[in-house]
Amino acid sequence: MHSFDMFFLYRCRRSTMPFSPSVVAYPQLPAGLAELSRTISWLPAEEAEKYIIDPRDRFTGKSVPVFLPRSTSEVSDLVTACHLNGIRIVPYGGGTGVVAGQLVFHAENTIVVSLEKMNAVRQISKADSVVVVEAGCILADVQAAAEAVDMLFPLSMASEGSSMIGGNLATNCGGIQVLRYGNARDLCLGIEAVLPDGSILNELTPLRKNNTGYDLRHLMIGSEGTLGIITAASLSLKPADKHTLTAFCAVSSPARAVDLLSRLRSALGDSINAFELMCDFGFTVLERHFPQERFPLEKSSDWYVLLEVGGTDDLEARFHNLLEHLFEVGLVADAVVAASEAQRAALWRLRESMPEANRLSGAVCNSDTSVPLSQIQDFVDRTYQAIADIDPALTINCYGHVGDGNIHFNVFPPPDRDKQHIILHDQELLDSIRTVINQTTMACKGSISAEHGIGRLKRIDLERFGDPVKLALFRTLKTALDPKGIMNPGALISDSGTAS
Ligand SMILES: Cc1cc2nc3c(=O)[nH]c(=O)nc-3n(C[C@H](O)[C@H](O)[C@H](O)COP(=O)(O)OP(=O)(O)OC[C@H]3O[C@@H](n4cnc5c(N)ncnc54)[C@H](O)[C@@H]3O)c2cc1C
Repeated sequence: MHSFDMFFLYRCRRSTMPFSPSVVAYPQLPAGLAELSRTISWLPAEEAEKYIIDPRDRFTGKSVPVFLPRSTSEVSDLVTACHLNGIRIVPYGGGTGVVAGQLVFHAENTIVVSLEKMNAVRQISKADSVVVVEAGCILADVQAAAEAVDMLFPLSMASEGSSMIGGNLATNCGGIQVLRYGNARDLCLGIEAVLPDGSILNELTPLRKNNTGYDLRHLMIGSEGTLGIITAASLSLKPADKHTLTAFCAVSSPARAVDLLSRLRSALGDSINAFELMCDFGFTVLERHFPQERFPLEKSSDWYVLLEVGGTDDLEARFHNLLEHLFEVGLVADAVVAASEAQRAALWRLRESMPEANRLSGAVCNSDTSVPLSQIQDFVDRTYQAIADIDPALTINCYGHVGDGNIHFNVFPPPDRDKQHIILHDQELLDSIRTVINQTTMACKGSISAEHGIGRLKRIDLERFGDPVKLALFRTLKTALDPKGIMNPGALISDSGTAS
């Protein structure tokens, strides 16, 4: 799948943002872990700086000792010791999470547990269409393992060269092929996890049917490290498509993009892998930092769709007939279809380089909304207007996995101010932007977090916009499973038994 070297940078880049702690004294290893530190690999806080980086350069976490277990039993020993001694644990995968769930904000009596050394593919079975992998397997490596047996693991996104399966499941991530294959949750058959008391939940089943009570796998998926540490997972593999077609189309509006999707669905059924919307301004942002990428159409348009369909031998003819018809009825103004794997990769690079181009251009807000498809145009219109009402000089790169109703608003400061200035001196502006996006989301019956999760960044928004009954149940579950509040305190749930 799409794997770009630059995304490996997310693991090693040093932040230059203003909140770097003025390093006075690094926290020491919590006393209760002295014995285990002789058998399990670990890094002292002063050597653990790569674990404090936010992939979007908005803040810096705090350095704490990092444990690097190599097996589920080592994870279990660690968590047991933390449970007994009230030591806080922040689980860590590839560090690409964009809501700060993996970053330590309160360093006292806290460790990071990184799963990066647990990266084995334990088993792969073409007959069962299942791969069993450890939590530290990089997503692109799981895709490659599937490809090696002529199968497909369809979870795919721009961070796939760094993000890890444990993190993917803990955040229930989405990406570009949710439309056809579902999100991480839909691709997971079973889970192995270490619970907050150190016990090991072994639900690593390859079964598609297993009606034996509560499905605890689903409780762990999307729990963002607050209910335990995922150590392994059994994942569903899919047949690989014989043919794939990738097209880049100009459309006049988000509503026309939704119309295009509906027509594609009627004509081609379930074969649409990806359907990404991009606004024209995004290409100005992209060109600034990736001038080598070529805009594929002759004329610009207000909006574009990057779409991919997969299927059998007759796909190409059916797709081209359809495209011709869409030109005739004026739904598509212009289009290119990739004629080679290199062209396909080039088209995908346009979309997948957008998050990095946003970061380099100093975006101060990156929203993650989903709304019903019927509300997309209304949501986009209302949100552009609400942001312009705050300050007409704010600029917006709007794109998203629109086939799933998932839109990202990336907002840039006015030309006379940069990101650093705004973070330091204008939190009010940041709050206003976030608030209006959340308000238009709610007005359009959407979700304030489509695929990134809540982490530490959106906790307040969840409190404000979440259903109180649901939040109360979250706390009941959290207290029942983690009475000492050691697992990722401060993430997802605001006041749940935070270990001291
Ligand atoms: C360029 C870029 C593009 C992105 N594109 C997308 C996209 O298209 N769709 C999307 O959904 N997301 C996207 N993301 C966000 C991110 O990649 C995903 O959230 C990803 O699933 C995080 O995985 P990770 O291994 O990096 O987790 P981390 O960042 O290490 O951790 C994320 C959260 O999971 C917890 N966690 C990590 N490992 C475990 C474990 N083993 N057990 C329990 N908890 C754990 C952490 O404590 C934290 O709360 C993107 C990020 C970047 C930087």
